[in-house]
Amino acid sequence: MAFNDFSPEEKKEQLISHLKSEGYLKTQKVIEAFRRIRRENFLPKELEASAYSDHPLPIGYGQTISAPHMVAIMTELLEPKKTDKILEIGAGSGYQAAILSPLVRKIYTIEFYLELASLAKRNLSRTRIRNVEVIPGDGSKGYLQKAPYDKIIVTCSIPMETFNLLAKQLKEEGIIVAPVGPAYGIQTLTTGRKVKGSLKKKEYFPCVFVPLRT
Ligand code: SAH
Repeated sequence: MAFNDFSPEEKKEQLISHLKSEGYLKTQKVIEAFRRIRRENFLPKELEASAYSDHPLPIGYGQTISAPHMVAIMTELLEPKKTDKILEIGAGSGYQAAILSPLVRKIYTIEFYLELASLAKRNLSRTRIRNVEVIPGDGSKGYLQKAPYDKIIVTCSIPMETFNLLAKQLKEEGIIVAPVGPAYGIQTLTTGRKVKGSLKKKEYFPCVFVPLRT
C-alpha cells in the first residue's frame, strides 16, 4: 500500500511512531499533544495531503511551518509544564503554539507579518484553542508586557545577542530554546536555562530556520 492510501489519522500515527523511534518524541504528554493537534489544520488546502510527511512546508510570505521532528525536539527541550507561561517568537501558522497549548497554561506568540498573525489566529480559533494569544509585531526584543516567562521558544534564526537579550525575560529556572547563528546559513539549536540569575547554555545540533526580521 502507498502512503497516500492511508487516512490522515493513520498517517499521523505512522509519523508519531517514526518520531518516537528516532527519539524525537520522548514524553507521553508530548506524544498525546501530537495526537490531539492535526497539522493539516495549519496548512494551506493544497498541502493538506503532505501534513504527515516529516518536512517543513511553505505557509506563504516566504515562511515555513517547521518539520514535525523539529517541533517535537523543541517541544521536548522546553520541558513544558501545566503552570508555564510561554513566549514564542514566530507564530507562523500557529502549529507549534497549538502543540504547546494542551501542555502549558498560556502562550503569547509574536508574528512579524500581519497576514501570518491573522492566519495563526484563524487556525487556532478554528481548532478551538483558547490559551494562545497571537500578537502581531516584531518579537526581536521579546514582549516585556507579559514578562517574565517560564519558557521562551524562538522559531526563526537569531544571533547570540538576541538570545541573551530574550533570556533576560525568563524567570529563574526558565528555559529558552532557539536556533542561534547566521541569518542565512546554518544555525545551532541552542538552549539556555537561567540558574541563579546566569544563563547555562547548551548546544545541540545544526539546523536551518528562516531568519529573524527586523
Ligand atoms: N512556529 C511556526 C514556524 C514559523 S517560521 C509554525 O509552527 O508554523 C518562523 C516565523 O517567524 C515566520 O512566520 C516569520 O514571519 C516569523 N518572524 C520572523 N522574524 C520575526 C520577528 N522579528 N518577530 C516575530 N516573528 C518573526
